[in-house]
Amino acid sequence: MFEKLKQLQIGKVYENYDLKNLNTYQVSCLAKYLIYPKDLASLICLLTFLKKEQICYRVLGNGSNVLFVNPIFDGAIIKLDCLKQIEIQGNTIVVGASVPLIFLVNKLSNMGYTGLEFACGIPGVIGASIAMNVGALNQEISSVVQKVKALTPDLKIKEFSKEELLFSYRNSFFKQHKDYIILEVTLELEKKDVKEILQTIKENNQIRKSKQPLFYPSAGSVFKNPSHDSAGRIIDQLGLKGKRIGGAMVSEKHANFIINTGDATGKEIYELILFVQKEVKEKCQIDLVLEQELL
Ligand SMILES: Cc1cc2nc3c(=O)[nH]c(=O)nc-3n(C[C@H](O)[C@H](O)[C@H](O)COP(=O)(O)OP(=O)(O)OC[C@H]3O[C@@H](n4cnc5c(N)ncnc54)[C@H](O)[C@@H]3O)c2cc1C
Repeated sequence: MFEKLKQLQIGKVYENYDLKNLNTYQVSCLAKYLIYPKDLASLICLLTFLKKEQICYRVLGNGSNVLFVNPIFDGAIIKLDCLKQIEIQGNTIVVGASVPLIFLVNKLSNMGYTGLEFACGIPGVIGASIAMNVGALNQEISSVVQKVKALTPDLKIKEFSKEELLFSYRNSFFKQHKDYIILEVTLELEKKDVKEILQTIKENNQIRKSKQPLFYPSAGSVFKNPSHDSAGRIIDQLGLKGKRIGGAMVSEKHANFIINTGDATGKEIYELILFVQKEVKEKCQIDLVLEQELL
């Protein structure tokens, strides 16, 4: 199969590739195939092949919201590094799915575009960030999205209007339909004084640094906040900060973060997630819902 994949000449293809450096938890997981299509036509060719051969696949962004629970992913991981264009026309900015959000925020902020300051420290790519409807400091990326171009399961290109994206708290059409692939995102941003924008970013980064365990591998908030409460507050109140399973630990700094203290496996992190969920259910009768995705 590996030889057949290489013969497609669709870009770089690796076999039995350890994804440790491609997910921010930094857990080891051997992907049967890791593929970097070289352009959109190659992506379509690849997906046609994978579907025909019934090989399961998943698009991976920066791996900052996923947990590879098992040591093996028996399918293809697809990286869309070829989709990195940024086109700016007035207040309309068209961005390829693989542009890192932090890079985009910095670039646009320095040009005087406002509306993305809240996202300055979110380590994902724009495509995944739309799928997750990322947010911070009471703002969400949905507020600046105009439309999205995506590949449908039957490999047609479809343009989604904002209404069709069905955004809600850390949720979107794409979160619910994993067989669609975001290719391009159109943002609509206002202009403002650059100094003011950069000052806001500086303050937002300081808030992040003071609250989050940024020196350890993690994948950000583990659970969604229940309505009118904070998952971190609930976990903290139960005294679970510092709780460990193997190399996985509930952060001492932010109870809604699980960190990899060095050599955690995906399974250990997953067991800790289940433990926290069980404690919170038993002691507070609250069902914590995962924000991160299990792969
Ligand atoms: C230190 C830290 C801080 C964080 N802070 C925040 C925060 O403040 N707010 C917040 O909301 N999140 C936060 N996160 C979580 C995470 O960064 C975001 O969810 C981010 O958008 C995930 O992007 P990614 O590229 O890493 O996606 P990945 O983890 O690679 O993928 C996430 C999901 O998106 C899917 N996906 C990827 N690309 C596409 C595509 N092109 N089309 C369709 N689906 C796709 C994947 O299959 C997967 O299901 C934080 C994470 C870390 C590690």
